[in-house]
This record gives sequence, C-alpha cells and structure tokens, in this order.
Amino acid sequence: MTLFYSEIVEVYEEISSTTKRLEITDTLVKLLKKASPEEVNMVVYLTQGKLYPDYLGIELGVADKFMARAIALASGVSTDKILDQYKKKGDLGVVAQEVISSKKQAGLFEFTQATSDQLTVEEVYKTLDKVARITGEGSQDSKVRLLAGLLKKATPLEAKYITRTVLGTLRLGLADMTILDAISIAYLGDKDLRPIAERAYNVSGDLGYVAKIALEKGLNGLKEVKIKLGIPIRPMLAERATSEKEIFERLDNSFVVEYKYDGERVQIHKDGKKFTLFSRSLENITHHYPDVIQHLTDNINAETAILEGEIVAIQPSGEMLPFQELMHRRRKYDIEKAIEEYPAAVFLFDLLYLNGEELIDYPLKRRRELLEQIVKTDFWIRLSEKRFADTPEKLLEILNEAVSAGCEGLMCKSLANDSVYQAGARGFLWIKLKRSYQSKMVEPIDVCIVGGFYGTGKRAGKLGGLLVAVYDPKSDTFKTICKLGTGFTDEDLDNLPKILEPYRIEHIHPRVVSKIDADVWYIPAKVIEIIGDEITLSPIHTAAFGAITKDAGLAVRFPRFTGRYRDDKKPEDATTEDEIVEMYKSQLKKVESE
Ligand code: ATP
Repeated sequence: MTLFYSEIVEVYEEISSTTKRLEITDTLVKLLKKASPEEVNMVVYLTQGKLYPDYLGIELGVADKFMARAIALASGVSTDKILDQYKKKGDLGVVAQEVISSKKQAGLFEFTQATSDQLTVEEVYKTLDKVARITGEGSQDSKVRLLAGLLKKATPLEAKYITRTVLGTLRLGLADMTILDAISIAYLGDKDLRPIAERAYNVSGDLGYVAKIALEKGLNGLKEVKIKLGIPIRPMLAERATSEKEIFERLDNSFVVEYKYDGERVQIHKDGKKFTLFSRSLENITHHYPDVIQHLTDNINAETAILEGEIVAIQPSGEMLPFQELMHRRRKYDIEKAIEEYPAAVFLFDLLYLNGEELIDYPLKRRRELLEQIVKTDFWIRLSEKRFADTPEKLLEILNEAVSAGCEGLMCKSLANDSVYQAGARGFLWIKLKRSYQSKMVEPIDVCIVGGFYGTGKRAGKLGGLLVAVYDPKSDTFKTICKLGTGFTDEDLDNLPKILEPYRIEHIHPRVVSKIDADVWYIPAKVIEIIGDEITLSPIHTAAFGAITKDAGLAVRFPRFTGRYRDDKKPEDATTEDEIVEMYKSQLKKVESE
C-alpha cells in the first residue's frame, strides 16, 4: 500500500493543534503502522521536517527567493507578488497555500483529486532528495523547476508544508523521544521497550534507520545495531553533585578527576587517513578544523578509531581561551584567517572504538589506557589532565588549579568495573563540578527561550525581556523558571528578535507549561546560559511545581544572561527540572551549615 503525502500532512496538522503528548504519540503510531519498509525512513525524516539524519549535514540549499520563484511558476502569480505577500505574512508556506488555493478556486489549474494524481510520500521525498543533490551550473533553475512541478500537483495545504520543509521552517518541535516511543509502540508492541530502540538510536544517530530496522527486523535487529565509522555516537553526559562530599559517596571513592575544558566537544572518527569531526549535537564540523585534522593525522596511531575530546582555543603561550573565543572558528568563510587568529588544541578524554572493535562497554580505565597507547602528545594534541583526590579538600584544591588554568571546573569519572560509556545518557558515572560564583546559586544553568516581553521606555515596542524554561524529560515539556531582562547588551537585544523570529508562533507552544502570559511565544529551540542569585520558591513559575511545597514552583532570583548562546545544545539539553530541585536542596543544606 502506498502512503499519500496528505496522510503526513494530516499528522502535521494534528500535532500543531494538540497540547497532549500522548495524542501526538498516538497519531505517530497510526502513521508508522501504515508505512511500508521502503517508506518508513522517509516518513520519519519528513515528520521531523528533514530529509536525512542531521549528521549527514545535507541541506536542501533553496533560498526563500528561489522558493518564491517555484511558487510563482506553479501558480502563475508573479514572483514579485509572492515576495510581497511573504513580506506581509512572514511565512512563505502560508503564501504558497493561499495562492494555490485561489488559483484552484478560479479553476485556472487542472486540479484533480483523483487518487492516481495524489502526491505520495515517496514522490515528495524523492523529488526533494533530487533538489538537495543537484549542484553545479544552472542548478538553481533545475531546483526551481522540480519544486514547481511538485507544487502543481499539491493541494493548498500540502503546498504549505512542502514549502516549509524545503525552507527548513517546519519546526513542529517534535522530540526524538516521542518518535522513539511511537516506534516502540508501533513496531515492538510495547512502549517499555523504548530503551532498546533508544540504544540503537544512540549509536546510529538516525531515527529513520532505527524505525526501518524496528519494522523489518524487530527487537533482535535493533539489538544488533553496531557502531559505524562516520556515524556519530550520541554523547555521554555528566550529572551534577550538590557537594564535593556527595561526589565521593556517589562514586564510591573510586574516580579519576579530569579538568573540564571550556571549549567545544568533539567526536573524532578516523578511518584510515580520513578524519570526520562531529560536534556535541552531532553536526559535522570537519571543515571548521583543518588544522586540528593535520595535528591528529600526525599524532594518532591507529587504523580506525573513534575518540572524544574538547577543542580549546589556545594562545601560543599555552594560555587557554574561553569557549566564546573558539566560536569564532564556526564561521563559513575566511577559515584560514580564523585558524591563524584562534589556533586550537585538542584535549582527548575518551576512546570508543579502535581498529574495528567497539570499546563502549569497557570500563573507563581500559578505554583510557588504550587511548594513552595510541596518542602521541604535543602542544596541539593532548590528553585531558588526569588527577586523583582522596579528600574533598584535595578535590577543591584541584578545582582551583583547573579554574586558574582557564578551565570551567572538573569532571569526576567513575573507575568502577561498570564505568562503561553510556551513549546518549546523562548519568552519575560522570559528575561535573564547576567553579562557584559569589552567590548562593553556585552554577549557571542552561534555559530554553519560550516567550518574550515588549520593553518599556527606550525599548517600547521592541523585545525587552524573555520568558525562559527548564526541561522536564518525564512529561517532555518546558516549564518556566524566570523572566529574564538583564545581562543583555544592546547588540543582544537587537539581534535576539532576528534570531528568534523563525520560531515565533501565535500561541503558547504545546510543550510549554506556563502560568504567565508572554507578549510573544516561541517554539522551544534556542538555549542560553543564565546565572542568578539563588533558586527560590515561586507561585507563578511552573518549574518543579509542587516538588517542594504544594502551591509553588521554583524560580531563579535576579537572573542575568551570561552572554553565552548555547547553540551547541538542543532544547532537550537544557537544565532539567530535577537538576533545579537538587540545586534548591543543596542551597538549603549550605544555609544550614553556615
Ligand atoms: P555544560 O553545560 O556544563 O558544558 P553539557 O550539558 O554540555 O555541560 P555535561 O555533561 O554537563 O554537558 O558536561 C560535559 C561536557 O563537558 C562535555 O560535553 C564536554 O564538552 C565538556 N568537557 C570538558 N572537559 C571534559 C572532560 N575532561 N571529560 C568530559 N567532558 C568534558
């Protein structure tokens, strides 16, 4: 049976109109059950508004202007008129929907709804795939023609979604975990089997592939999914502790202390002479770091390997620069100049695969030994500082040294026999300890922007503040933790509306829980770092509502933006509600002991 594109469009519509996660999952389950093995990966990518898994880094490469030309060609309305409408409406998808609908009504188009003419998922996907792959001279014209052909066959509603997919503005805010739930229910028959699907996703980074394997080969097929070179593994993450003492308890006195470098996490895949670098969010960042690759080529002694480390901007004197400086390396042009201005070293801390063998189930001690065997260290390629602490005082001493050396803090890593590499998970095998600030709130947190407020006075009518939220993985929602109006430079305030515009929506997003009415709402997408004076009880914020007392949630008092945009984090990577509860409790303990 062939799946029609209209069936995916229905799902888009349903997801945009509900606020209930279970309903969204149900809708996806029904869709997945209709897909054939040949279609299922296309279905999953399209519901995510993409064509391929992120790590491939393939973009459709169609600018607004060219999409407007395609809509013009399909509808007979002039490109200028379309662009004019676009300016007014701010969404080319809606413009496409309207012009195609009015043409249809005017009967100017031969428009049939006969089944044989309906767009199928396969046709839409394959056409968009072609569009993405055309390169070279005249490629823009060919892309426009292909897209116009597709739009001609589309219903107005389909045209809206095709346009948004092409421009990468579909943004339904559908979480990976919701798709994994749906895959488990549809193909494994049980939501509780999600961890098996999740493991396959953690090592393959590809939900389309996981769905296909689940459908074709079931549970055993998923268990067989192996690490592959060139395909990024989802990173292992660290928990926080509320005190140095807790670290000793949690890690049973058996742990190694590493510096927590303030740079960009990198996963390095070496396949013979070829190196591929992936970021924390599995983006291919190879082209930003040709210098790093040269150094790795000289210093890694293995045929194939997957290594992890932190890339840090470094001065010739050896002084380490903060993360923000390294971000200058993320530019598209003048890469050579950026390399000269911001040279970078790598501090390696893990080895996940070596010469054909998976190492993630080995304990850390073994992984580190093998890492040390294959790495020749020099100024550019180093191993993370490895220290040991037998008392909380010693740990604090190392923390101070790390901070003086320009690091963010420490990573304490379990050395127990079960200290495996937990791909895609945040657990207590790794515990981070950051430097304290002069306030009760010892650490900055990462929050997701979910709303905005207009300013007053000089900033009347412009964005003056933000409503920000933490993440609750249990309900897959974002819960507000404070209004944020300080710490922004004028430049930030001018840029933020532009950065946030693509995520602006008319109503509160279904995944946001708020008691406050914002002036503007956003899809949870952008993560920023804030620090405050302390965490307090608040009746108006929904973060951890009821966790401490019945009628209050938790809020950050006197929050300030630290200036760090965490573009390396997805919304689900924001600080969690549970972490905030822990931070609140640790504050109380501190007050008690003072
Ligand atoms: P943060 O916001 O603190 O950077 P995160 O959410 O990105 O944290 P965490 O799990 O909290 O991730 O902390 C691990 C991060 O610390 C890694 O993603 C990596 O970028 C960085 N890091 C720096 N040094 C090390 C190290 N020695 N071992 C592991 N991770 C390190």
